[in-house]
Amino acid sequence: MASSVSHPSWLTCLASTSGYQVMFTSRGGGGNQKSPYADFNICHYTGDAPEHVAASRRMLIKELGLDTGSLIVPRQTHSANVQVIDSLPVDPAAIEGVDALVTRMPEVAIGVSTADCVPVVIVDEQAGVAGVAHAGWRGALGGVVDNTVGAMLELGADASRMDVFFGPAICCDCFEVGEEVAARFPEEYVVRRAEWPRPHVDLPGYVAGRLLSAGVPSERIRNFSPDLCTRCHPDRYFSARIAGVESGRNFTFVMLKRRI
Ligand SMILES: [Zn+2]
Repeated sequence: MASSVSHPSWLTCLASTSGYQVMFTSRGGGGNQKSPYADFNICHYTGDAPEHVAASRRMLIKELGLDTGSLIVPRQTHSANVQVIDSLPVDPAAIEGVDALVTRMPEVAIGVSTADCVPVVIVDEQAGVAGVAHAGWRGALGGVVDNTVGAMLELGADASRMDVFFGPAICCDCFEVGEEVAARFPEEYVVRRAEWPRPHVDLPGYVAGRLLSAGVPSERIRNFSPDLCTRCHPDRYFSARIAGVESGRNFTFVMLKRRI
């Protein structure tokens, strides 16, 4: 008989197998959405009150049944830097200025914080290697996705076995950019319409393209769903384009399960 696990409104499961779980946290609902950090936010470096961040983290840790030190939240800077998580506790300095994480450790949640940028999870279940990257336009062009795949290969993963999942991110229809940004992307990811004053970029599409180039089979890359657009659905997801940079973040993460 099929069973469904119910989660709080701020937690969504994208995939769950015997080997791993991919999830994201978002605003949740029903509370006071007037605050740009409501209801649920674990990001500690975008202006939220430390008590709210700590309370949200406690709720997530409890929901996942994790040890306190097993929730890894890097401070991101739109870099292309990847950190390998291979022991606990993680030195906070090791995850400063880091925009992607990879691990072989079970029962450790590695994730990235985003509000419009693309969070992408990559897993080689057979090898027991997981990765997650924050790909805004700067990081994506800078190679953060390629670097994440590279770090996973070094840990024994194989691109042909990688499964890919996108968390909440801005859709192409919403992602208006300046000409100078559009010019940096391959033309196939730049969209122009008569009714749009400026070009748009398909950022999830570009990230998928990087993964295809790295050898990930297209059928293993789950299509980005417009339902996950942060700007189309600011009631559900944090969107910096709606709420400003000083706002909460969606947290997209992957957790390997212990092998029995
Ligand atoms: Zn949208």
